[in-house]
Amino acid sequence: MTTVALPSTDLVSISVETAVSDPRIEQIVHKVKAGQRLSVADGELLYETPDIWTVCSLADLVRRRMHKNIAYYNINRHINYSNVCALSCSFCSFYRKKDQDGAYELSIDKIRNEAISAAKAGATELHIVGGLHPYLPFEYYTQMMQVIREEAPKLHIKAFTAVEIVHLARISKRGKQKYQGIKAVLRDLKDAGLGSLPGGGAEVFDDRVHDEAFKGKIRAGTWLDVHRAAHELGLNTNATMLYGHIEQRADRIRHMDILRKEQDRALNNWARTQNIIMQEDDAVVLTGPDEMYPSNRLPDPSDFDSGYFQTIIPLPFIPDDSAIEHLPGPTGLENLRTLAISRLMLDNLPHCKAFWIMHTIELAQVMLQCGADDIDGTVVWYDITKVKSTSTHQEANVWDLQRAIRQAGFTPVERDTLYRPIERDGDTWQVVENK
Ligand code: SF4
Repeated sequence: MTTVALPSTDLVSISVETAVSDPRIEQIVHKVKAGQRLSVADGELLYETPDIWTVCSLADLVRRRMHKNIAYYNINRHINYSNVCALSCSFCSFYRKKDQDGAYELSIDKIRNEAISAAKAGATELHIVGGLHPYLPFEYYTQMMQVIREEAPKLHIKAFTAVEIVHLARISKRGKQKYQGIKAVLRDLKDAGLGSLPGGGAEVFDDRVHDEAFKGKIRAGTWLDVHRAAHELGLNTNATMLYGHIEQRADRIRHMDILRKEQDRALNNWARTQNIIMQEDDAVVLTGPDEMYPSNRLPDPSDFDSGYFQTIIPLPFIPDDSAIEHLPGPTGLENLRTLAISRLMLDNLPHCKAFWIMHTIELAQVMLQCGADDIDGTVVWYDITKVKSTSTHQEANVWDLQRAIRQAGFTPVERDTLYRPIERDGDTWQVVENK
């Protein structure tokens, strides 16, 4: 019988030992303890094993190696500028057609006022996404960035999923799904104020699932192109995986493997400068024991020229009001297991987020003990999915987030979008440098 001993952290001493009840995963335990990359077959086994608590303990081990006893939250606001969309993805309950009841698009003035109000309330980030609006011109999007920059220069703008960027490349006639067109659009948006890209629109990287559930949307290769172009322009991005609908568990593991390879590519040069021990195929593992990292374990965005994936955000499919609402959606334990496996497989992404809006704060809190180091932020308005609510007003106050983190046994740290700690006095804040 093998045991998993969790290491001590700065502020708390942990000596949890978990018995491994499934001998098939003992070699995975060994690999994680030694800081070796898990294979696709290992990932599939982590889904098969009934020993879910060893899976969660291993994810907790690597999460504590990287982030000790810290768990992050931020003070942010989401803006969904329009729900009008040219596509009709079957898992989506958000989109409307142009003249359908409930269709909307926000004016630039409305967005300006939202930015002013977010800045006054002390938010550090605006998270902006919407549908693929068939009629709004490209200037609407650059103007949106510019007015936010003018009115609220400190607010970080994290905006537009990869599928929206490709849509903007089309409407601005910069080339149809061509790399240079995508890059030109990203450059224009960056010049206008864009700070980073969210991770949405990835769904599951599999052609069968794509054709059945979101035909018309970009495929994996194009999604990766957008993120690669953003990284080349020095923009950090996030990555998601929407699971629990018509895909198989093996599809999820392949999705993680594809993301991991792309991140190796983004981090390779940096890792060499840090003398990080590279593994076969130049794999960059950030989740190993301390001795593998003579210098920095994690990239510091402040002195990193190009961008990389910051965070993996596993998103459960929520069936209500979608075209495939007859499907049950994933259970709580499946959500927990998927988050833990994401943490273990994506050994080169610095962060793993339990997005409370889609899991509830209660489950996000449990996820903090199973691999997550971030529960996202105060949100305020969110129209894409609604759990336990029919309203777009979905707000957590800072006290709720801090309490959830503390009760999970971690120290809450407010972060900015790039995971730099924030020092705050009421609604006034600043980034803490070199921490
Ligand atoms: S998921 Fe995005 S692209 Fe698909 S229908 Fe919904 S808003 Fe449109």
